[in-house]
Amino acid sequence: MAEREAFHDFHKKRMEIFRELVRYIWQDNLTIESLDKLAADIKEKYSFREEDIPFIKDHIRVAMGLAPNQRAFFSDELAELKRQERVEGPVLARIGGACKECGERFEGSECHEACKYEAQMYVKGTGPIIIEEKCLNCGRCTVACSFGALADKIEFIPLVKLLKGEESMVFAAAAPSIAGQFGEDVSVAQLRTAFKLMGFADMVEVALFADILDHKGGL
Ligand code: SF4
Ligand code: SF4
Repeated sequence: MAEREAFHDFHKKRMEIFRELVRYIWQDNLTIESLDKLAADIKEKYSFREEDIPFIKDHIRVAMGLAPNQRAFFSDELAELKRQERVEGPVLARIGGACKECGERFEGSECHEACKYEAQMYVKGTGPIIIEEKCLNCGRCTVACSFGALADKIEFIPLVKLLKGEESMVFAAAAPSIAGQFGEDVSVAQLRTAFKLMGFADMVEVALFADILDHKGGL
């Protein structure tokens, strides 16, 4: 089967979906209509077919921290988001509709090779089956699959609720490795400013929280 261009390099398209969702949420414009429009825009822009709509909508669901369900229409997603206080497991989501597009190229296969924890069976023609009890959510297979067949749920909406709420101050606890994460042109001071612009009270070193927990434990 010839691979369809629409599915190639899906990581980039996924980030585009996520960026739009973040915009909707910040602007209080997260509605079924806006979600439908986002799916239609992605379909048009990258020449997906009508039959790919469940695949695109599942990526929208997963980017909002919800489970994929292969439906071509949104129904109770907004109600689920209202109730959501944290993203429920499993974090790794299998998105139907993509594996058939890469069968020939990845026969082997890259997603399977990426898993070091025997958490995945690879079935020719249908792709991986994830064994939940063994999966450590390390994310290696999601990076290896460039067709968007595997994705991890993004825990952003509960965070936005916290950031928009008045009742508590929210601190970003960053590991020292953040210094190299965005390349040498981005300084830690710039990142701290960016976090504050997003609504965090401040950015602090994660070791500080370890000290606070240690202190509390000693009381
Ligand atoms: S999960 Fe594996 S088989 Fe499926 S599209 Fe990705 S790389 Fe291909
Ligand atoms: S997330 Fe990690 S452990 Fe789970 S199936 Fe993928 S590679 Fe394996």
